[in-house]
Amino acid sequence: MINNLKNNERFTTEYKNVAPSKGDLAAIYENNGRKLLMKLGERGELILPEAVQFMDYWIEPDDPDADAKAEEKGGRLIYLYTVGEINYYTFFYYDSRRPDFSFTGMDFQPFNFDNRPEPWNEFFAAETGMQVANWYNDNKRCGRCGGRMHLHPKMRCLKCADCGFMVFPRINPTVIVAPIHDDKLLMIRYRGREEDGYAGTALIAGFMEIGETVEDTVRREVMEESGLKATDFRYYKSQPWGFGSNLLIGVICDIEGSAEIHINDTDEIAEAVWLSRDEIADKYRGVSLTNEMISWFKYGENFADYFEI
Ligand SMILES: [Zn+2]
Repeated sequence: MINNLKNNERFTTEYKNVAPSKGDLAAIYENNGRKLLMKLGERGELILPEAVQFMDYWIEPDDPDADAKAEEKGGRLIYLYTVGEINYYTFFYYDSRRPDFSFTGMDFQPFNFDNRPEPWNEFFAAETGMQVANWYNDNKRCGRCGGRMHLHPKMRCLKCADCGFMVFPRINPTVIVAPIHDDKLLMIRYRGREEDGYAGTALIAGFMEIGETVEDTVRREVMEESGLKATDFRYYKSQPWGFGSNLLIGVICDIEGSAEIHINDTDEIAEAVWLSRDEIADKYRGVSLTNEMISWFKYGENFADYFEI
């Protein structure tokens, strides 16, 4: 999975608002967008701008005039986290303006897993940075009183200057479910992907609702998407997933009673089908938890031997 960093490098998320230095990188997204300031190298690899190029936008966290300065500049550079020895930074837009970053020689481009995940650790940093950047930029204003939110100098937190309301990063827990029955895996096809054949299939997945346990969510999602009764839950692994601000929770389960499929949520799900190992397409790779769980079923514990990455 993309969060398993190469070379045993460590992901350090503790907040430390230090100025960038040479070698540090910037993962800067469009204001409220999915596009990343980047360029592609000759081998299609991701190249991020050096953070020190944005020193004009660095404002010390305890600067009493921080807001006035950020307003004048259109935003400010903020610390994200550290991967290995590299500090990563992103941009907190002060309003809807977008400062001119053309001095970097890069532009805003779509960033997703259509890109080759190379360099692996920087790809993880940029994917995770999307979640943090979107959280900052989606919370410019206080949800209680509409006042302007300010960076907390010591925590990854936004605080309203008018009413004191504090907002912390939000993570959306989501289950990924692999029901197994008679040596087959239950896979689904979302609407709009009918032409892809079995290659367009995925695992049952869904957001947790307020008040649910993980088991409740698994039972509900399996019932909605296949009409089957999930039982005997086994935790697989979890994965942070910055593209959707999710924490993905992988669960394997059995089916109680009939294994005959009946889709309740026909708006979302085009098809649900039991597939044997041989029927599962070979396209699955180890970047996402979903794909790892499919590969784990198809190839067994040594699934990584079948991957290039
Ligand atoms: Zn407020």
